Amino acid sequence: MMKKRFKKIYVEITNVCNLSCAFCPPTRRSPHFMSPDAFNQLLERIRPWTDYIYLHVKGEPLLHPDLEALLKMARGMGFYVNLTTNGTLLGKTADTLLANPPRQINISLHSFEANALKGQTFDEYIMSTLDFAKKYSPDCGITCFRLWNLDPEKVSAPQREKNLLILTRLKEAFQFDGSLEHRDFCGCPNGSRKNICMADKTYLSFDHEFQWPSLIAQDFGPAGTCRGLKDHLAILCDGTVVPCCLDGDGVIPLGNIFQTPLGDILDSPRARAMLTAFQSHSICEPLCRRCGYRTRF
Ligand code: SF4
Ligand code: SF4
Repeated sequence: MMKKRFKKIYVEITNVCNLSCAFCPPTRRSPHFMSPDAFNQLLERIRPWTDYIYLHVKGEPLLHPDLEALLKMARGMGFYVNLTTNGTLLGKTADTLLANPPRQINISLHSFEANALKGQTFDEYIMSTLDFAKKYSPDCGITCFRLWNLDPEKVSAPQREKNLLILTRLKEAFQFDGSLEHRDFCGCPNGSRKNICMADKTYLSFDHEFQWPSLIAQDFGPAGTCRGLKDHLAILCDGTVVPCCLDGDGVIPLGNIFQTPLGDILDSPRARAMLTAFQSHSICEPLCRRCGYRTRF
C-alpha cells in the first residue's frame, strides 16, 4: 500500500474550552463546533493524505455535543484517532470513549491550575483521570498522562507540591515501582521529552512548559527548519488549513478545506514557499521566526 504523505493531521473539532490555562492564550477566533456533516466532508478530503488524526488544536474536544457521532465516523472510515484533553470531562464522556475508543488519549495534567476554578478539588480531578485510565488501558487504547510544566524557573512551590502529589498518585494507581521523583523538575534538558511506561499502554510524558508562538514573541531569526507541512498540518474548526497545531489563531491560513481540495492548498504559493524554505533550512513566515518549537530541530 502506498504511504500517505502526512504522518498526522490535527483536526480541531471545537475551539471552545471549559478552562483558561495561564500558558494558553485565548483564541481570537469566534467560538465554533464543527458539525458532523462538515467533519464527514473533511474526513473524505483528507483520507488520501493521512491515516492518523489528532482531535486537538485549541479547545477541549470532549465538550463537543456530537463527540460520539464524530468518533464513529472517523473509525468507520479507518482513521486512527488520537485525542488530547484536559481531563475534566472524562467522567462524563467515559461511556462514549470506551464504546468508540480512540487509539490514544493524552491527558494534559499540567492544566491543573485552571481546574481550581471549576468546583472540583485537585485530588478529585486527578483521581477521576486515573479511574478513567485504568478502565481504558490496555484493552481500549493507549493513555498518556502529560506533565508539561517542568521548568524549574517557572514552577512555583505550590505547583511543585501538586506535581509531586500527581506523581505519588500515579505511582500508587499503577503500582509503578520505578523512580519518578528525581526526574520531576530537572530530569529533562530543554526540548527533550521523556516518556515513561507505567503500565501496559499507560505512559507519563514529561516536558517543559509549552510556549505558543506569536507574532509578538521573541524572534529566533531566519535560519532553521520545521516538520510543519512536511509530515503534518492542522485544520481549524472552520476548515482553515494551517501548517501545524501551534498556529492556534490561524496566522498562516493556507486555504479552506471546505472550499479547496487539499492538494491545491498545498500547491499554493504560500505553502510551497514555506516548504521550500524549510528544506533549505530557512524560515520565511514571521510566525515561524518567533516559534521556539522549531529550535528543537
Ligand atoms: S491548554 Fe488546553 S485546557 Fe488549557 S485553556 Fe488551552 S485548550 Fe483549554
Ligand atoms: S515553525 Fe512553529 S509555527 Fe512554523 S510551522 Fe513549525 S511549529 Fe508551526
